[in-house]
Amino acid sequence: MIQSIRGMKDILPQEMRYWRHLEHTARAVLEGYGYREIRLPIVEQTELFARAIGAATDIVEKEMYTFADRNGDSLTLRPEGTAGCVRAAIEHGLLHNQTHRLWYGGPMFRHERPQKGRYRQFYQIGVEVFGYAGPDIDAELILMTARLWRRLGINDLTLQINSLGSAGARAAYRGELVRYFSAHETGLDEDSRRRLHANPLRILDSKNPAMQSLIEAAPRLSNHLDAESQAHFSALCKQLDAAGVRYQINPRLVRGLDYYNRTVFEWTTERLGAQGAVCAGGRYDGLVEQIGGRATPAVGFAMGLERLAALLMENDAALQGAEPHAYLVTVGEAAERQSVILAEQLRDALPALRLLVHCGGGGFKSQLKHADKSGARFALILGDEEAAAGEISVKYLREDIMQTRMPQAKLAGFLSLHIT
Ligand code: ATP
Ligand code: MG
Repeated sequence: MIQSIRGMKDILPQEMRYWRHLEHTARAVLEGYGYREIRLPIVEQTELFARAIGAATDIVEKEMYTFADRNGDSLTLRPEGTAGCVRAAIEHGLLHNQTHRLWYGGPMFRHERPQKGRYRQFYQIGVEVFGYAGPDIDAELILMTARLWRRLGINDLTLQINSLGSAGARAAYRGELVRYFSAHETGLDEDSRRRLHANPLRILDSKNPAMQSLIEAAPRLSNHLDAESQAHFSALCKQLDAAGVRYQINPRLVRGLDYYNRTVFEWTTERLGAQGAVCAGGRYDGLVEQIGGRATPAVGFAMGLERLAALLMENDAALQGAEPHAYLVTVGEAAERQSVILAEQLRDALPALRLLVHCGGGGFKSQLKHADKSGARFALILGDEEAAAGEISVKYLREDIMQTRMPQAKLAGFLSLHIT
């Protein structure tokens, strides 16, 4: 039997209600802050990711789905959205003394080891802002995500923030880190030894328990911050304080991608085990120029929808609203003929109505069982007797209220009082 590809999962109808709630709410919050949607290709030239994300990152080193196009070009399924968004902004001239608040959504691809909350195809909603250099926009992004969590009823996320400083400050710090870890090389695991010269900051990101004390004692980037980055960071902290957003400053938060500078942040949960990060981002003022555009400050984040959907499923906060309002049961020939017309009339009259019409025949009892299973509140019963009288019986499936019968012409009015 042909099966799905490892790490690439189907999202089944019973999960979709959470996804739709998540996507719908995210769109509403982002648009409420003036962010505009952009849709980007799933495939880009490999070179784009190598340049943007950094050759010595996990993603580029070992996680990309790269293949030769039929004409020999090297293409890659996007592992993240920022590089493509920057590419598009440059290509369409969005960056010439303009500011833009953009968002996008869709699947990303990374050849990682699949496990709970970690897939090879996964969905992100991402935001990128171009043209603002100050901490005010960093704060806006964080406040916006905090609002989204509140709207979704996800109340137990922790916000960690850090500043990576300027490129210059990072270069100086990098030298010191290499000296420190070289002096303790026997304590490094294989991955870290490999990163020691290529990308020493990433060693700080290691989750290996055996290395934690060594990492804890490593020199801190915060001691190397340039004055401007320091001012930027403390202004951000002040804005978060003023808005009542709680955060932890985590000097070891460096993020996995090379392009960040100054502000980085991550929202995490304890509820998903090792895959606890649900949203992460930061400032990347150097990237636009690095990809060939004119220097433009930029900041963004991306959230992982599988992990957020998993939290929603646990909360069950999104449940309301997906079941049908009513289930139409018909018994008898005349009734069956009428039922389709009646259902269409109801849908015309009530665009928000979720109505299931029983299909596939069967007796009254068995149809009522289907009605109950559907989660509907009402069974609308159309038997030959009702059909002859132009009436319909309404049975409450969830409440202890007596069945009623009414003229079919009154049904839309009745239902309109019960759909929200
Ligand atoms: P992690 O530390 O979990 O590997 P990351 O730092 O690689 O995350 P980013 O590249 O910043 O993640 O992507 C932003 C968000 O996308 C993450 O916080 C996470 O919620 C989600 N995400 C990243 N990789 C995966 C994956 N393989 N499967 C599911 N979600 C993912
Ligand atoms: Mg990762």
